[in-house]
Amino acid sequence: MKINFIDLQAQYLAYKSEIDSEVLEVFSSAMFIGGEKLNRLEKSLAEFTGAKHAIGCSSGTDALLLALMALDIGVGDEVITTPFTFIATAEVIALLGATSVFVDIEEDTYNIDPSKIEGVITSKTKAIIPVSLYGQCADMDAINEIAAKHNIVVIEDSCQSFGASYKGKKSCNLSTIACTSFFPSKPLGAYGDGGAIFTSDDALATKIRMLLNHGQNERYKHKYIGINGRLDAVQAAILNVKLKHFDSEVQAREEIGARYSHLLEDADVITPKIQEGNTSVYAQYSIRVKNREAMVAKLTAKEIPTAVHYPVPLHLQEAFASLGYKVGDFPISELVATEIMSLPMSPYLTSQQQDFIADAIKGN
Ligand SMILES: *Cc1c(COP(=O)(O)O)cnc(C)c1O
Repeated sequence: MKINFIDLQAQYLAYKSEIDSEVLEVFSSAMFIGGEKLNRLEKSLAEFTGAKHAIGCSSGTDALLLALMALDIGVGDEVITTPFTFIATAEVIALLGATSVFVDIEEDTYNIDPSKIEGVITSKTKAIIPVSLYGQCADMDAINEIAAKHNIVVIEDSCQSFGASYKGKKSCNLSTIACTSFFPSKPLGAYGDGGAIFTSDDALATKIRMLLNHGQNERYKHKYIGINGRLDAVQAAILNVKLKHFDSEVQAREEIGARYSHLLEDADVITPKIQEGNTSVYAQYSIRVKNREAMVAKLTAKEIPTAVHYPVPLHLQEAFASLGYKVGDFPISELVATEIMSLPMSPYLTSQQQDFIADAIKGN
């Protein structure tokens, strides 16, 4: 049985005529940067999430970078985040000369543990970046409360959670700033790199719009040192089509995620725990197994693709050696990193494929 880890081809075939015509419109209009497609997308993204402003940008990484730049975070500042994430979350902190301060995760959700945040806050702490990992939001109420008490800004890294909800609100509208990614394999993926920044703060929105366009407030007048961080019109056109169908894709993701968990109830694996009040978009459907190498080999033998998100926590990455962390500093992150593995996941995964995967996991 042929199974793709993420079935982007099936998705393209489902929306082909709409995507082709939207993209061709961009080609014939020759408006490749900015323009109507991007404006429409930003409006729809704001409506979808409930955030006042949605600003398209070049990637999830740049969204995070721009958020920190907008807050003037730099040398001498500390930013609290999780070591159990994709490197981009902490990479941007280091790029600006600020220092990442890691806090371990909760063992059930794999998101930052709010009860451990206050212990690392100092006078240098400027922001907290909780990551809504695998498509489930971090405990944003608890995090916002701590941040408000200490006058710190919260930036949700919602690169994996666009479409998820938390206590009736949408991810990307749960903190001062949120950053998402439209990398092709994310729940809402473009056909290249892309991202968006969300905020309901007018001043931050204005500043971020300038920063992503070389700090320009009018043509060739530069108020800030910025970057080239724009989202192009072709990606916006594709995202407009995909966003129209996104609610039904989110529903399919939820159903497929729940069905996996049901099928694996009696298997010797730990399935994702979705907290009450949360819905997950299952950017990854990740399970924990005691002997990952053996499990991966077993599935590979049946041509079932798998992946590991993420095998090495950030505090043990060579690139962050200068932070001075060592093995044992974040035991839950370290444990989960040795046991976690992701199964094929997309709204196009069929029941037959899922049964085949679950049987392979349970079989000897
Ligand atoms: C994908 C991802 C990013 C980076 O997004 P890009 O669009 O690839 O730059 C950042 N943080 C997390 C948690 C991600 O999953």
